[in-house]
Amino acid sequence: MSNHMIDAIRNGIHPDDVFIETASGKRFTYGDMLTLSARLAGALKNRGVEPGDRVAVQVEKSPEALILYLACLRAGAVYLPLNTAYTLAELDYFIGDAEPCLVVCAPHAAEGLQPIAAQRGAAVETMDDSGGGSLMELARAQPQDFADVARGADDLAAILYTSGTTGRSKGAMLTHDNLLSNATTLRDYWRFTRSDKLIHALPIFHTHGLFVASNVTLLAGSSMVFLPKFDAEQVLELMPQATCMMGVPTFYVRLIQCAALTRERTANMRLFISGSAPLLAETHRQFEAMTGHRILERYGMTETNMNTSNPYEGERMAGTVGFPLPGVSLRVADTETGRLLDEGETGMIEVSGPNVFKGYWRMPEKTAAEFRADGFFITGDLGMIDERGYVHIVGRGKDLVISGGYNIYPKEVETEIDQLPGVFESAVIGVPHPDFGEGVTAVVVCQPGMTMTETDILRPLQERLARFKQPKRVIFVADLPRNTMGKVQKNILRDTYAKLFE
Ligand code: ATP
Ligand code: MG
Repeated sequence: MSNHMIDAIRNGIHPDDVFIETASGKRFTYGDMLTLSARLAGALKNRGVEPGDRVAVQVEKSPEALILYLACLRAGAVYLPLNTAYTLAELDYFIGDAEPCLVVCAPHAAEGLQPIAAQRGAAVETMDDSGGGSLMELARAQPQDFADVARGADDLAAILYTSGTTGRSKGAMLTHDNLLSNATTLRDYWRFTRSDKLIHALPIFHTHGLFVASNVTLLAGSSMVFLPKFDAEQVLELMPQATCMMGVPTFYVRLIQCAALTRERTANMRLFISGSAPLLAETHRQFEAMTGHRILERYGMTETNMNTSNPYEGERMAGTVGFPLPGVSLRVADTETGRLLDEGETGMIEVSGPNVFKGYWRMPEKTAAEFRADGFFITGDLGMIDERGYVHIVGRGKDLVISGGYNIYPKEVETEIDQLPGVFESAVIGVPHPDFGEGVTAVVVCQPGMTMTETDILRPLQERLARFKQPKRVIFVADLPRNTMGKVQKNILRDTYAKLFE
């Protein structure tokens, strides 16, 4: 029977090729992947999982955990990965919201989860990070063949919760074709082939490590080295035998601090990709100076998979996220009226294409509010398209600062601050101000070993930024608060400094 995503994967793979290897030397060929996903799909069926049922998974990263995602697709289930950092209270929300029929968790978490799952009528099985656990035992007793459940392009493949950077995570409903169309486009755009080997140090509960990295690999029939977490030394060790890496900006910030990052060390690598958060132009520049490689930055979100990418050939422009991907339409509209804006004008980024999700799980009003009448999805990100067609992101709509009636795009102020000698990075936020509504506030991290004063920042900005954009206060911190995907949590900064102008 035809299964939209799985059929496409089957078409491009060779059973004897390596799919995943781990740092400890474990190897799974594509043949192994097909056998284990068949057995796991059999186990799911055995546990009562029916087509369309959600399977919630909160387990440590391992090849088996990724193969469980494929097993869900084969069984016609909806895969629902959960951040390993979520606490029981958070899991209660997600399980209550998604109503899975099965929850797969780490063995140590089973006891705590049992009552939560039971209350929602879900069964619990376990999987550890080394091939053990009750679900794996059940799988071993299943046949090595499984008749894939028929699934069409528009059937749900996954519900992926957003990172919760701006508020409570929302469940994005992604269809088989949302995943397949985007992964096929990225494979071709980034030239992935059977001979690639990707360094995979990202978590697999997020769109970056799960869909971008893993689906591209699966559709190219290439291989991955699976690392439980990012460790710069370990990644540098692996570079001579790998060809590509996908990372969040923090990976690159850490790598450029290593003397071992050289042209020689990266000679076998053909591509470094960055996304999930803005890459500092300075990091881009330093990485190129040390390796000769220009990092390729792309932009996407849980709801849409990837929307834009810098070119494979052609200029990879630092500080931009490149061009809309083939098949993706991207436009910039006035945030209030929805009127379409011209190149160079800043407004709300809206996208449409086969990559765009079906809606938020059980949030019809929220879904309706985030789509325009002509089907474009309102991303919540502010940006502009320059005269060469490159898309620039200037920040999130929710992070826009409105001071004295003027709009201030944080990125513009951050870019000026980041260029000052002694500054490592910055985050510009708006916090309540008695006169201006919001007061522009800069939170600054200095270069290691440097100390700076408020005046060191403010004086040079006087010549570079209109007065209303100049920060009213500068605060120095050792680090910016970031979540697991390396995203700066501006909401935490706004809370921390909420009373600054009182
Ligand atoms: P939530 O929607 O729950 O607040 P989130 O938006 O951080 O969380 P994700 O879907 O993981 O959840 O992240 C998508 C967002 O990440 C985008 O909307 C954008 O703001 C940001 N992003 C992704 N790639 C880039 C990039 N290359 N440059 C700047 N921002 C990026
Ligand atoms: Mg979001």
